[in-house]
Order: sequence, then C-alpha cells, then structure tokens
Amino acid sequence: MPLYEYACLDCGAEFEKLVLKAGEAEEIRCPRCGSGRLEDRVSSFASVSADGAPNCAPSGG
Ligand SMILES: [Zn+2]
Repeated sequence: MPLYEYACLDCGAEFEKLVLKAGEAEEIRCPRCGSGRLEDRVSSFASVSADGAPNCAPSGG
C-alpha cells in the first residue's frame, strides 16, 4: 500500500497519507496547521526485504 509518512516542519506534527499518485503528494498539507512544508519520512514497515517474503511478516500487534 502506498502509504507515506510525513512530518510537518512548521508545527512538527506527524501524519500518514495515502498517496495513490506521485503528483498527488504535491497537494499534501499539514492537517494541523495547513503548512505545505512537509518532510517525507519512510515508514519502517515499508522496507522491503530482498530475502523472500515482501510483506508477509506476522507482526504481533
Ligand atoms: Zn503543521
């Protein structure tokens, strides 16, 4: 799932956004203050291991 994590550089709020299109990321804004200065962060689970199972890790949570 194209779920991206963003962090506002203005207020420091962190939120996730489901980006379907690459260009859509340009319209993403902070849901808290409305600032457009966001830092794209890569989620830990997004890391794809080139060992075998791409996303089949039974994470207990
Ligand atoms: Zn903000």
